[in-house]
Amino acid sequence: MSTYHAPLADMQFVMNELAGLSQVSKLPGFEDATPDTVSAILDEASKFATNVLDPLNVTGDREGAVWQEGGRVKTPKGFKEAYEQYCANGWNGLTKSTEFGGQGLPQLVACAVEEMWHSSNLAFDLCPLLTQGAIEAIELRGSQALKDTFLPKMVAGTWTGTMNLTEPQAGSDLAAVRTRAVPQGDGTYKLYGQKIFITFGEHDYTENIVHLVLARTPDAPEGVKGISLFVVPKFLVDADGSLGARNDVHCVSIEHKLGIHASPTAVLAYGDRGGAVGYLVGEENRGLEYMFIMMNLARFSVGLEGVGISERAYQRAVAYARERVQGRAVGLEKGAKTAPIIEHPDIRRMLMTMRAYTEATRAVAYVTAAALDNAHRNPDDAARAKAQSFADFMIPIVKGWSTEVGQDVASLGVQVHGGMGFIEETGAAQHLRDARITTIYEGTTGIQANDLIGRKTARDSGAVANAVAGEIEKVAAHLAARGDSALQAIGVQLAAAAADARAAVEWMVPAYGQRPRVAHAGAVAYLKLWGLAVGGWQMGRAALVAAERLAAGEGDAQFLHAKIATARYYADALLPQAGAFAHTVIHGGDSALALAAEAF
Ligand SMILES: Cc1cc2nc3c(=O)[nH]c(=O)nc-3n(C[C@H](O)[C@H](O)[C@H](O)COP(=O)(O)OP(=O)(O)OC[C@H]3O[C@@H](n4cnc5c(N)ncnc54)[C@H](O)[C@@H]3O)c2cc1C
Repeated sequence: MSTYHAPLADMQFVMNELAGLSQVSKLPGFEDATPDTVSAILDEASKFATNVLDPLNVTGDREGAVWQEGGRVKTPKGFKEAYEQYCANGWNGLTKSTEFGGQGLPQLVACAVEEMWHSSNLAFDLCPLLTQGAIEAIELRGSQALKDTFLPKMVAGTWTGTMNLTEPQAGSDLAAVRTRAVPQGDGTYKLYGQKIFITFGEHDYTENIVHLVLARTPDAPEGVKGISLFVVPKFLVDADGSLGARNDVHCVSIEHKLGIHASPTAVLAYGDRGGAVGYLVGEENRGLEYMFIMMNLARFSVGLEGVGISERAYQRAVAYARERVQGRAVGLEKGAKTAPIIEHPDIRRMLMTMRAYTEATRAVAYVTAAALDNAHRNPDDAARAKAQSFADFMIPIVKGWSTEVGQDVASLGVQVHGGMGFIEETGAAQHLRDARITTIYEGTTGIQANDLIGRKTARDSGAVANAVAGEIEKVAAHLAARGDSALQAIGVQLAAAAADARAAVEWMVPAYGQRPRVAHAGAVAYLKLWGLAVGGWQMGRAALVAAERLAAGEGDAQFLHAKIATARYYADALLPQAGAFAHTVIHGGDSALALAAEAF
């Protein structure tokens, strides 16, 4: 059986060498994020992940959350206690404002910690993840009264938060939201309607749950311009901060799912018993805009779920491959007896693929986190704007690509286990089942890809996309200029991927306006092409740093050699897919649409 151990060496390498922790920690308000403090935080988080969350992952999956009479929900054994310990340790408020009891740390630090939670117990972390989003929306757009009433408790984790967007007829298309919010004349509203698929919409962790709900006021315009955002607590809060009357929001049932069994996915009924009291966040009809503030961060976090699952599936596969003995390893010592399967070249190929994708998606996510920190805190206006536009471009890639890759990696993890991978006992199958939701919630891969081709590429005529391609080309040129054949080989493939990305942008910008159906048919291929290219960019940078440190006789030589070998594998075995995706973007759309709907 494998136990999760946080990949601290790689996390630290990526944070320091690629994402620029030292620069981030100089931003105003982040001065406490010194290398020593960050290292201590990561050590503590890794202990909590290994000792508390990892052992609950399998038991939580088997037991699952259970709906009980009266609309109560029981979480699996040990989860409530783990949540209390999590909050007591201060993990809930890591990035949140010190004004409300948070620790005000950079996103870059939080993302490494969050990756550990996702690796060790994805279902557990969904509750804090959604709470973070709800805090964010109230903090950025809520009135002072809403902030004072809800934020200290939510930052401490005493109350949790949810995101209530989805309704039976409104999933990807939130314009179809029907939940009604009727003003009461006293500044409050009463909400009526049904929300489905609400993560941790009901549970037994805490006494109160703060729902962030999208709804329409009576005279609201049609479509997305008529949606408002409300805070609807499970229990109303009295003037002195104590809990008051039970509000009219009730959990009707929870879903039976393929994975993340320990995370209750609730159907919530609003207003069946007279109306659920809600408080408007910001202004009427601007709810979707506010929700997108939450969703940006939530999408980034779901991308990290892909990284976390990849890492966990990889660790489990390596442990099994070392133990399981089967057949003779081809090409090794003649007459040797049977060998552990890690000696088979095809198993090595799978482990190397898992490792390379995990490292690449991690690096891409952490670099994006550093951009988010700069977008919020950099004192220079131009630097802030540049970081924001880069982060905006990257978020659909982090979300869409890392989760698609997470599924592939989890599936390879099953394959490495052979038949035992299909048997629940080894835990490999759970990673694949859990990974399956990550490409769906917070906007499917298709929705991320639509965002990437539209708002993130066509809208600025490919300016940011081409600027990123330019950065990739610079790294490719540095690699090519080195007198080392491994680095040069990486540089060649990276230059080719940058050219593929540029060709796809050049095609996409006019196609988006002139042939939108064809452009959209190639959107996911476009997203995957970009994922591979930016992954290659970061792997190339990592190889350069590793080579420099080796040349200077610094650092852990084994780790640094492995970095270069993994980057080389990524460049030779994975990055060439960028060319195939570029071909699909440019030539595949017409064929995808060739058959009429009736022909299927
Ligand atoms: C376990 C779980 C937890 C969830 N948690 C929450 C939560 O906490 N809060 C919440 O509000 N929601 C939550 N959701 C809902 C989730 O966000 C939606 O399921 C998701 O956004 C997709 O919507 P849908 O299921 O209605 O699918 P649909 O929108 O019906 O999509 C079906 C298919 O059509 C495609 N599609 C739809 N529109 C387009 C388009 N314009 N272009 C291209 N393709 C398109 C999709 O990509 C997908 O493949 C959760 C869902 C699950 C299963």
